[in-house]
Amino acid sequence: MRAVDIIEKKKHNLELTKEEIEFFINGYTKGEIPDYQMSAFLMTIYFNGMNSQEISDLTQSFVQSGDQVDLSKIEGIKVDKHSTGGVGDKISLIVIPLVASFNVPVAKMSGRGLGHTGGTIDKLESIPGFRVDLSPEEFIENVNKYKMAIVGQTANLTPADKKIYALRDVTSTIDSIPLIASSIMSKKIASGAQAIVLDVKVGSGAFMKTIEQAEDLAKTMVSIGKNLGRKTIAVITNMDQPLGYEIGNSNEVIEAIKVLKGEGSVDETEIALVISANMCLLGGAFEDIETAYKELKELIASGRAIEKLKELIRVQGGNPEVIDNWDLLPKAKNIHQIISQSEGYIYSIDAEDIGLGAMLLGAGRMKKEDPIDYAAGISLKKKIGDKVNLGEVICELKTNLEQFDDAIMKVKNAFVIKDEKPETKPYIYNIIR
Ligand code: URA
Repeated sequence: MRAVDIIEKKKHNLELTKEEIEFFINGYTKGEIPDYQMSAFLMTIYFNGMNSQEISDLTQSFVQSGDQVDLSKIEGIKVDKHSTGGVGDKISLIVIPLVASFNVPVAKMSGRGLGHTGGTIDKLESIPGFRVDLSPEEFIENVNKYKMAIVGQTANLTPADKKIYALRDVTSTIDSIPLIASSIMSKKIASGAQAIVLDVKVGSGAFMKTIEQAEDLAKTMVSIGKNLGRKTIAVITNMDQPLGYEIGNSNEVIEAIKVLKGEGSVDETEIALVISANMCLLGGAFEDIETAYKELKELIASGRAIEKLKELIRVQGGNPEVIDNWDLLPKAKNIHQIISQSEGYIYSIDAEDIGLGAMLLGAGRMKKEDPIDYAAGISLKKKIGDKVNLGEVICELKTNLEQFDDAIMKVKNAFVIKDEKPETKPYIYNIIR
């Protein structure tokens, strides 16, 4: 087999065999196929796409390129959740205790934040003492005992995807549905999930800018799941503005606590309930989605949901008192308020710019090795559709930096205020099963 013949075939939009896809991916991972041939291959996929079988074969090649986590010692159906990336997205923090409360095992491996999006591991590490470096034995023991555990990813998962993603970044081939879908699904499958609920974000702060694109991505991922024997559901959710009111690390932990106490924002509560209900359904805890949703709502109202988060914090070495005493979480020295220069309605909030603003305040990383400030972040005081008066505070920036003019500019420009009220959009657009 020759790489050039496979590129030629895809250039003419002919279907590739499993062997051809494996040959290309393995050859590239081992360094036998050079970047320039992989770049050409990626561009043919970008323009000609791939059919469902080809995408599943590509996903499988990514999975086989590295370690595959063995969760067979965990009892029950292991259900994972993945978000395609949002700003202020603390849904995982809420969903883990909710789903575990109904005895569905959540063995979560999460990443750190990069660029404008945050990472669940960073958020949890803002809790004093919280350990994300459990040994594989501790991880499995905790899931069997408490039905939940979360660790930072250490295994060498999907190295082929890692290498190809870096190349896609510099060859303008990121926004290709077959490439995004196989990249995401391969990581979930390699990390041992038997069933997967995907939160596919759509809007100004997301990869997918239109509902049609998001549905296309969602259907592609659900079809990969079906072809590779993983039950998969995709929930398409709105990312036209940040989720909830808090963006950062310790402030997002506080907001997740509020949702689990039944005092959270409506958007986050609704999305977390729908995702948890679908996870519980796939995990076999309930027969139908309506019952799952109702029971999860009652779990929050009863106070048992917040107790379960307290348990997660305690068993992973964190101080569980943070649940009731937020002063125990890192606090920023400097607070800067952004004041409205006009009167009207908040017409739009550019989620990506808010995410970048939070990063510039120290809450996120520009490069993988950058340190972060757990106390830094942004608190929105107004969201899309809210009335705003001249001189009113629209958001607060929190940081330990002394100089942060660039962040102020970024965040200020993220808000558009107009005389007319914008149309109200749903939190959830569609669910693909
Ligand atoms: N997230 C991923 O993991 N991969 C992509 O290709 C895009 C988003």
